[in-house]
Amino acid sequence: MDLYEHQAREVFKGYGIAVPDAAVVDHPREARHAAELLGGRVVVKAQVKTGGRGKAGGVKLAADPAAAELTARQILGMDIKGHTVRRVMLAQPVDIQDEYYVSYVLDRAAGTFLAIASAEGGMDIEAVAAARPEAVARIPIDPAEGVTETKAAEIAAAAGLPAETADVLARLWQVLVGEDALLVEVNPLVRTTDGAILALDGKVTVDDNARFRQARWGEGSEVRDSDGDPLEAAAAAKGLTYVKLDGEVGVIGNGAGLVMSTLDVVAGRGARPANFLDIGGGASAQVMADGLDVILSDPDVKAVLVNVFGGITACDAVAEGIVRALETVHLTQPLVVRLDGNNAARGRAILDARAHPLVEQATTMDGAAARAAELATR
Ligand code: GDP
Ligand code: MN
Repeated sequence: MDLYEHQAREVFKGYGIAVPDAAVVDHPREARHAAELLGGRVVVKAQVKTGGRGKAGGVKLAADPAAAELTARQILGMDIKGHTVRRVMLAQPVDIQDEYYVSYVLDRAAGTFLAIASAEGGMDIEAVAAARPEAVARIPIDPAEGVTETKAAEIAAAAGLPAETADVLARLWQVLVGEDALLVEVNPLVRTTDGAILALDGKVTVDDNARFRQARWGEGSEVRDSDGDPLEAAAAAKGLTYVKLDGEVGVIGNGAGLVMSTLDVVAGRGARPANFLDIGGGASAQVMADGLDVILSDPDVKAVLVNVFGGITACDAVAEGIVRALETVHLTQPLVVRLDGNNAARGRAILDARAHPLVEQATTMDGAAARAAELATR
């Protein structure tokens, strides 16, 4: 879960990282008022969970409160990379001398955290890294040790940042740990013309597995509501794990391991998964019905593969769930079902009895995947 810039800014403040004064509004008239309180001149910044807002025209300087209102009117409602701007942040402008890039990120491949820092911040860091990799320092962090004063100084030196940034680097690590973040990024971290070090932008990605102790970003908050794919949100609301992919076969399975192998087998049969949904180990008939509803709402799906190994939930319950789903969901694409395990014969009999023209059964996982792939790509 990503935080908005204005939320990241509040988090930074709590850890003693200096940020410009700011206010968040959702209406142009409030922008005028907020600009007055901030001293007149302000930077108006679109609050959307994507980078490159500056280039897209979502970050603009306004000379006075009237201009702030006008600029807010332009930016509110704007579409930035598919995100509609519903709120703008007004910030006191600062006079920038230098712009730096600093971040901590979980490096899954290396099994550790990584500090990434560069004296060439502000613009697209990927572009800097591609053109001049030597301008971007990458330093592994031992998570048990963290970023001590010495480590912070080492990162700053490696990236060619001034020594004063070490304090922010140490505090930013505290943000990562304290907020259960997988990523914290400041781009740009700036040195102002009068020598202050300020975080001018912020990105924080909170580990979804830590929601239970990061309650203020929890269920039902604005953060959750506007995150990612709308179907993913709908599935999450029903307690289901649904992930959107870019192929044409919808995949439903029970248990992460079976679902992952199902994706592989579909790929092995020359099709691509459009999505997958894990109904979990103890899925009820209702969960099956909810899952089918979600999968069939994805317009990319050309065929659905249901691959269930009956365990705690026996196959007859799953079959009943499918039959129930067929009453409420209008099936428009073929459904290939493979049931095996506990009560498989009973489950198959239930589906046979229903005899829906778009529902087929297969006895093996490979056979089911082959048939679903064939139906989806014909
Ligand atoms: P992003 O484009 O989404 O990363 O948005 P940023 O918050 O990083 O803003 C884009 C750019 O606007 C920054 O890299 C700065 O160069 C510039 N900018 C933002 N705030 C200020 C400010 O207060 N003063 C000045 N001079 N430039 C600013
Ligand atoms: Mn930025």
